[in-house]
Amino acid sequence: MTIELCVAAAIPDNNNDTAFTTETTITSEQILVYTRDWRLITRAEWAARIPTSISNFTGPAPYVILHHSYQPGVCRTLDACKAAMRSMQNYHMDGHGWTDIGYSFAVGGDGNVYEGRGYEVVGAHAPNYNSRSIGLLLIGNFMDELPPAPMLDVAQDFIKYSVESGHLRKDYILHGHRQVRSTECPGNALYAEITMWPHWQKS
Ligand SMILES: [Zn+2]
Repeated sequence: MTIELCVAAAIPDNNNDTAFTTETTITSEQILVYTRDWRLITRAEWAARIPTSISNFTGPAPYVILHHSYQPGVCRTLDACKAAMRSMQNYHMDGHGWTDIGYSFAVGGDGNVYEGRGYEVVGAHAPNYNSRSIGLLLIGNFMDELPPAPMLDVAQDFIKYSVESGHLRKDYILHGHRQVRSTECPGNALYAEITMWPHWQKS
């Protein structure tokens, strides 16, 4: 079973997505149960504040908009990533006056996925796309350096999971934040990387 508590020292350095390239007779439900080596860290687990309001949209979403945080930098343990989520939520709510953390989900350097606003909730990460996208953050500054390889694997796996679980269209379009707004996000290094990912499209 793979949905286990993350141990910081156990960050995988191998790609564990063989289920997507080999066995085709098992169901997607079985894939979800038996091959995921990341865990979804819920809002309760990272001690998120309650949103001041929530607006929903009807999924599955047609877009994934990818971000880096710039700050905070890469977090490498469960506790550090939980703290990063809290600091971003505080900044977005207290500094910007937003209703919640802006992103839909975040990938930590500990190899887990952190629940932000979640699926089918209008975000605050990319104007014009907030009500039709999953805003996926990779926590760290990826202007000059790529994220650790496990973060890239988990991000791609989470996108696949989102399709399989019906929250993202099969024919989704992947954009970096800079493609929909004037910004350096998601950083030069990470942006170059995602242009080679499935479903990335020129804007
Ligand atoms: Zn961004």
